[in-house]
Amino acid sequence: MEGELTGRCICGTVSYTLRDGFRFRPYACHCTDCQSRTGSAFSEHMLFARHDLEIDGELDSGSYEQPSGAISTIWGCAKCKVRVFAENNTRPGFASLRCGTLDRSSEVILAAHLWVGSKQSWVTIPDGVPALSEQPRNQAEWMELVGPLKT
Ligand SMILES: [Zn+2]
Ligand SMILES: [Zn+2]
Repeated sequence: MEGELTGRCICGTVSYTLRDGFRFRPYACHCTDCQSRTGSAFSEHMLFARHDLEIDGELDSGSYEQPSGAISTIWGCAKCKVRVFAENNTRPGFASLRCGTLDRSSEVILAAHLWVGSKQSWVTIPDGVPALSEQPRNQAEWMELVGPLKT
């Protein structure tokens, strides 16, 4: 998604503006951690430069250590607990938006599906959209799969 984006939690305490800047294309993650964290079938992520995000309202956070040893911290509304974005200590300066919080979430087009090895059985991946059984193994593969489109 391009340009300046806005979004909010469901109670209205937290809203945000994501300035136009360096960002990846949105993708779905079907890993079991995302299923548990969202209470749903998958999570919609979009990596962006953290300094492009301006938050209005009080956030709180929760952290956990992934099997790799990385610490993942998720930030959301302190009141209604809607989760807005996540940070990971292995990629400082970047964060991952939860795309369902966007005001224009119906315009999200997923560039890829990750961890489809653990996707729920009823989820059908659209033809022509890349799907990985796990996730990209390095930064170059991430860039190739969901990095900004080259113009
Ligand atoms: Zn809220
Ligand atoms: Zn995941």
